[in-house]
Amino acid sequence: MCAAVLVIGSANADLVVPVDHRPAGGETVLGGDTVLSPGGKGANTAVAAGRLGASVALLGAVGPDAYGTLLRDSLTGAGVSLDHLRTVDRPTGIAYITVTPDGENSILVSPGANSALSPSDITDAALSGASVVVLSLEVPLATVSHAVSRAAASGATVLLNLSPAALLPTETLSAVDVLLVNEHEAAYLLGSTSADLTGLLALGPRAAVVTLGARGAVVITPEGPTSVASPTVRALDTTGAGDAFAGALAASLASGLSLTEAAHRAAAVAAVSVTRAGAQPSYPTAAEVF
Ligand code: ATP
Repeated sequence: MCAAVLVIGSANADLVVPVDHRPAGGETVLGGDTVLSPGGKGANTAVAAGRLGASVALLGAVGPDAYGTLLRDSLTGAGVSLDHLRTVDRPTGIAYITVTPDGENSILVSPGANSALSPSDITDAALSGASVVVLSLEVPLATVSHAVSRAAASGATVLLNLSPAALLPTETLSAVDVLLVNEHEAAYLLGSTSADLTGLLALGPRAAVVTLGARGAVVITPEGPTSVASPTVRALDTTGAGDAFAGALAASLASGLSLTEAAHRAAAVAAVSVTRAGAQPSYPTAAEVF
């Protein structure tokens, strides 16, 4: 199958444990019951786009274990093509997440199979037919850089969700059409708490979108910044809101909308996702939003 949206990124099992406090070195803490759910930035983004009805594939890697099956089932349930999801001889990636009563989480990721994603996985067959290619950074940076340049050369719109924040070569950022970051990642990239987000374009991308939590997002193009308001909702769980935004942005761009129109739709989708528990389970269908 040739998918209009190709997501290249991670697939992780999220193991979430409520705790009163986090263990210090040498300390043992008894937490609450573990909640297991499918996650990883790549898989989340693909599921968000798939639920909206986009033709989407995930290029990634899982292990030959029960967590790999959990992820495959979730992706399939959202209509995501698994044609480019490899099963490798490494454990599926796992995110160990502790959540304290104030809602703050700390996350330890064991990338496992995601580490096996290599430049040679970025094949012509995977790129063929993709009008939008989405990347994020829970997979090896060398693979991301290679994929960005291959996707740009194929003529696809390249959407890079630079999360978790990392420095990439200028050559890579210059091949990006839309750089998507949250406020913290923007500050990291700008090397300051500068409010001048337009500085992101100096790093190379043709446009940037900065998500601002409940305040929505700002779209930055060479013509200047445009604010995108978020619908006001009662937030229950913001886990994976950024990935919901990325998936919806990609699906909307693939359907031919302008970047600003796509960002409005993405904000509407992400706002619904924060009213429900979890990441992938919280992502709405198009009929639920529009
Ligand atoms: P996360 O790490 O939780 O996935 P993030 O830090 O990458 O999220 P945010 O900027 O917090 O990204 O949120 C992404 C988008 O989700 C926002 O641009 C907004 O559209 C929506 N959103 C997040 N929080 C809220 C909220 N409280 N109310 C409405 N919309 C929200």
